[in-house]
Amino acid sequence: MNNVNKIKKCSGCGTCTAVCPKGIIQMRLDEDGFYKPAITNEQDCINCGKCLKVCSSLSETPKKNIIGSYSASSKDDYIIKNCSSGGIAYEIARYLNKHNYNICGCEYNVKDQNAVHKIVKSIDEYEKCMGSKYIQSKTENALHEMIKGLKNEDKFVFFGTPCQVAGVSKMAIQNNIREKIVLVDFFCHGIPSYFLWKNYLNFIKENKKLCNIQKVNFRDKNKGWHEYTLTTADGNTNVFSQSLTEGNWFFKFLLSDVCLNDVCYDCKFRADQSFADIRVGDLWCKKYMSDRRGMSAVLTFTEIGDKIIKELSNVCKIDQEATEIVIEEQIKSTIPIPTFRKSIIKDLKNNKSFPKIYYQKVIPSKIIKKLKGEN
Ligand SMILES: Cc1cc2nc3c(=O)[nH]c(=O)nc-3n(C[C@H](O)[C@H](O)[C@H](O)COP(=O)(O)OP(=O)(O)OC[C@H]3O[C@@H](n4cnc5c(N)ncnc54)[C@H](O)[C@@H]3O)c2cc1C
Ligand code: SF4
Ligand code: SF4
Ligand code: SF4
Repeated sequence: MNNVNKIKKCSGCGTCTAVCPKGIIQMRLDEDGFYKPAITNEQDCINCGKCLKVCSSLSETPKKNIIGSYSASSKDDYIIKNCSSGGIAYEIARYLNKHNYNICGCEYNVKDQNAVHKIVKSIDEYEKCMGSKYIQSKTENALHEMIKGLKNEDKFVFFGTPCQVAGVSKMAIQNNIREKIVLVDFFCHGIPSYFLWKNYLNFIKENKKLCNIQKVNFRDKNKGWHEYTLTTADGNTNVFSQSLTEGNWFFKFLLSDVCLNDVCYDCKFRADQSFADIRVGDLWCKKYMSDRRGMSAVLTFTEIGDKIIKELSNVCKIDQEATEIVIEEQIKSTIPIPTFRKSIIKDLKNNKSFPKIYYQKVIPSKIIKKLKGEN
């Protein structure tokens, strides 16, 4: 079959689901806890190959084409407090919404305790998209809706991981609608298995008596921007907030790279390689070491992307920076796959306790990595 069943290394971007004329591709969690496409009725496949044509995993490595490099922070304290870095994503969304763009971004969905892409028509509705959700976002429904809207002459700004943006960009170019969409991605570390998130939710349920989670903030800035602080709250008054330095298990596993999607280890969209108009991120560099509020890193790759950033100077503090500074602390090359990755994911799936997995497999994986001289 000439369809996505052929794809060995899938990022789970979801674009194939949105272009299939037979509507037979659905995103489902695979055995390792990543959303991957599944063909529901193989006999209905007409072998048109449309799903493969938009596939971000089959995409070439983007050419480097930087127009501008900036540091940026919103002048609005409320925005900065509720966004992960300097709030530039919000300001881009607000600016384009004023110019009649719909917004496609990622929300936390309390019903299924997952991340999903949604289309919103107003900046007020976009508030739920503020802040990073460090889990894989399910994009299929939003992409379906967005493609329909684009065909009806609507304009969109799409925020997503670089692989999601690569898929959307391919789809838009093939349909001659690229000028109706502004693409914004971010420097991307990678997405962890959903079994890490499910295990974390179980951990706080058993140890912190926190059930029925209603609010999740993956980048709470109460302890400062440099701290990775994860805050969860139930429908009552129970709140659990813990930073990486305080030993937060979710971040300990995520930032050890032990349970990322397999394509993330060898991602072709690192640092300055992107199909977006604008790339944003955290400006982790020496210059902003003591900044507690948050500073965004920005790269622009197209004239329209650069124009948008320049037009934000009334609502944001924007300074030109050397590209080397903007990408200073970002991952630039392949991450070696940890020795016990598969087994760690299996343990997370089986709900084994965090300390057990950490001391039996994560620490040994780190030691082996060091002995091999891998960074
Ligand atoms: C999985 C992941 C890995 C990241 N890795 C890095 C990294 O290595 N280096 C770095 O500098 N920055 C990374 N970021 C980006 C960073 O966390 C901030 O999002 C970025 O600095 C922009 O901040 P902001 O204040 O402008 O906007 P924010 O308000 O934080 O929002 C950013 C936008 O991201 C979208 N978004 C949120 N979660 C997801 C998701 N799971 N999938 C797709 N889109 C999402 C939202 O729709 C929103 O529009 C990562 C983000 C994610 C979600
Ligand atoms: S080949 Fe065509 S019909 Fe078959 S799954 Fe792909 S897009 Fe759908
Ligand atoms: S289009 Fe995206 S989700 Fe579909 S097979 Fe390719 S990488 Fe996977
Ligand atoms: S690291 Fe690369 S493949 Fe993985 S989610 Fe990010 S952009 Fe996609």
